[in-house]
Amino acid sequence: MAVPSKILSTLSTILCLFTALPAALAQAPLCERLFVTPSAQFKSDIKGRLSPQVYEDVLFRVDQLLESLGPLPKGYQVTLKNHYGQGAKHIFGSRQIEFTEIHTTYQKFTGREDPHLTLPILAHEYSHAYFETAMRKLSPLWEKNSSFLDMPFGDPQLKKDIATKISVYHEFFADLVPAILFNNPRAMVEALQFHESSPPLQTIKFRDWSVYDPSRDLAHLKEIFQTQNSDISYIYLTPLRRSLWNEVSKLHSHDDLKGFLQKVVETFAHDYQQRADSGSFSFTRMNTELEQAFQRKALHWTDN
Ligand SMILES: [Zn+2]
Repeated sequence: MAVPSKILSTLSTILCLFTALPAALAQAPLCERLFVTPSAQFKSDIKGRLSPQVYEDVLFRVDQLLESLGPLPKGYQVTLKNHYGQGAKHIFGSRQIEFTEIHTTYQKFTGREDPHLTLPILAHEYSHAYFETAMRKLSPLWEKNSSFLDMPFGDPQLKKDIATKISVYHEFFADLVPAILFNNPRAMVEALQFHESSPPLQTIKFRDWSVYDPSRDLAHLKEIFQTQNSDISYIYLTPLRRSLWNEVSKLHSHDDLKGFLQKVVETFAHDYQQRADSGSFSFTRMNTELEQAFQRKALHWTDN
C-alpha cells in the first residue's frame, strides 16, 4: 500500500530530529530539505501521478546545482498541466514553465509507462530559466537580442534567426543539467523516447551525451539539418557533447560540478558575444571553436 507523502515527510522529520548527533550531522542536507522551498513556485493544475514533493525536490536540486547562475527573477512559476500532446516548455519573457507527465506513448513498443521519466524533462525546462538569467547578465548582446524576442513587435524573420541561434546554446545547457543531476548521460533520451509529443526518434538519439561517432554520425546529422529545421537547435552542438561529458566524468563533488556548470555558461556567454558581433555560427566552426575553448578551460574547471 502506498504511504501518503505527508506521512512520509513527517516521519522523515521525526527521524531527523531523533538521529544521534554524528549521524545527524551527516544527514544535515536531507533534514534541511524538509524546510526549504524551491526558488520557483510550483503549482499543479491537475492531480498528477507523482506527488508535488517529488517535483519540488527536482526543482530544489536544480536550485542547488545552479545557484551561482541565479538568483532567478522573482515570480517564476512551474505548473504541471494536462495539455495532452503539448509536452513541456519554458516560456521566454513570461517566467512560466509548463510541463506534462509522461504517459503511454510508445508503450506499444516498450510496455513502459513511468511518470518518473518526467523528472529529467522538468529539470531541462527549469535549467532554461537559470541559463537565460545568467546569459543576460554575462553577455550584453544576448541581453539585447533576447529582450528583443520578448517584444510584441519586430521583423519575424529576424526574430526567428536570433531565436534559432540562441536556442542552440539553450538546448545544449538544458540537456546537460539533467544528465549531471541524474548521473545519466541518456537521461533526456530515455525520457523523450516515451513522451507523447516527442520529436522524431532519429534526432533524439543525438541528445545522448555518451555516444557520438563522427565517422558514422556526421553525415546523418547534416542530412537532418537539411530536412528538419525545427529540431536543429537540439542537436547542433552534438559533437561537443561527447568531449564535454568526458570532463564531467572526471568530476565527483557537488561543488566541482557547480563550478563546471558555471564555467560552461561563462564560455558560452563569451562565445555568443563574439559570434553575434562578428563571428560565424556555422556548424563546423561552432563545434570546433567551442571544443577548443572548453579544452583551454578544462584544467581549471574548479578554480574560482
Ligand atoms: Zn529545451
